[in-house]
Amino acid sequence: MKKIVVADDDRSIVKILSALLKHENYQVKTAPEGASALKYIKEFKPDLVILDIMMPIIDGYHICKILSEDTQYEPVPKIIVLTARKEEWDRRISSFAGADAFIQKPFNTTDVLSKIKELIG
Ligand SMILES: [Mg+2]
Repeated sequence: MKKIVVADDDRSIVKILSALLKHENYQVKTAPEGASALKYIKEFKPDLVILDIMMPIIDGYHICKILSEDTQYEPVPKIIVLTARKEEWDRRISSFAGADAFIQKPFNTTDVLSKIKELIG
């Protein structure tokens, strides 16, 4: 069973994604802010992380950077950045920070699922 961490401070998004992913037979852990997201990534060793950018404590960009630089998080999970920010700059900085994909909110669950399948199967 592939493992996914969903990190977002928007509880309704966490709820929707968690139900969707469990229904697709993924093992899911959710985090409402960046510090617990990092803790779960370290302990749960997910195959993929769905990461909000604007989150309390540690933001999504910072998490991407930590995952790509700190060897204690190896093997580095695939990262899908999910954000309401629309600027091209955000897309660039996300990929520069190590994100594998960028999906804009409001998102379509079909797009999220097909991107996950593309990245981890
Ligand atoms: Mg947020």
